Amino acid sequence: MLRFKQLLFTLYFLLNLASCSKDNSNPVAAVSNENSDTTALSSSNSSNSNDETTESSSTIIGDGVPSVFTKIYGASDIYIEDSNVIIKVTGIPDHKSPYFNTSDNMYEDYNGSNLNFNLNPNKITGFDFTYKIPLNPKKSDKSNPTALGSIGVSINGVSFFNQYAGPNNQPLTNEINSFDQYNGHPQPQGVYHYHIEPIYLTSKVGSNSLLGFLLDGFPVYGPEENDTKITNDDLDEFHGHSHSTEEYPDGIYHYHITDQDPYINGSGYYGSPGTVTN
Ligand SMILES: [Zn+2]
Ligand SMILES: [Zn+2]
Repeated sequence: MLRFKQLLFTLYFLLNLASCSKDNSNPVAAVSNENSDTTALSSSNSSNSNDETTESSSTIIGDGVPSVFTKIYGASDIYIEDSNVIIKVTGIPDHKSPYFNTSDNMYEDYNGSNLNFNLNPNKITGFDFTYKIPLNPKKSDKSNPTALGSIGVSINGVSFFNQYAGPNNQPLTNEINSFDQYNGHPQPQGVYHYHIEPIYLTSKVGSNSLLGFLLDGFPVYGPEENDTKITNDDLDEFHGHSHSTEEYPDGIYHYHITDQDPYINGSGYYGSPGTVTN
């Protein structure tokens, strides 16, 4: 019974992850989501975000995990399974946000610079995300477009999303106004995510630094290299390029975040994507 419920929940989750946060235009969907099992099942995780913050420095690292993955300080567990790296996160940010409940001490009023800021109706919820990404990523010969929903994980455990707000490549235009002071926001099920530069992370670890991984196992770096701003012109169609980095002295393909569309990833993954499940 429990397994069946989990399966249902997973299916429900995957279906719903496909819509980002169009609740402004669809209040009925937002209401029905609030009454769904998803909310009920996950609420136990969402209430203790402070515990998550204090626990985040004690990631359990399995045997043989390359040290680069220990940079994902927001993970609870990281281990190797077959030819994949398994990364477990709740997806709750370790920075404040107006998308926490006001009673949560991670709550902070919007204090960013966007005069058109518009709080969406969603609240940050914790999940038991399991990312399974290739240990030794390789270029893929076929096209692997990114899907809506999580396309990768950042070092604090928050999801990266692509440059679209919803199905049929809807641009982020309106959604940008609901990004909080750290450039993130939750979708209707409460999955907090970044579509653009996660400025909490770039101010914490530096704009030249590794900020996470996409599902294909290739790393994501910040908007600068050698303290010089990266532009889309420096990158290929997938929004990356290859050279040596601090973590990969022998060179590696990597994505960069830029301040222009597509921000994190272009026309799909460079490699074959792994999976994220809940
Ligand atoms: Zn979004
Ligand atoms: Zn680079």
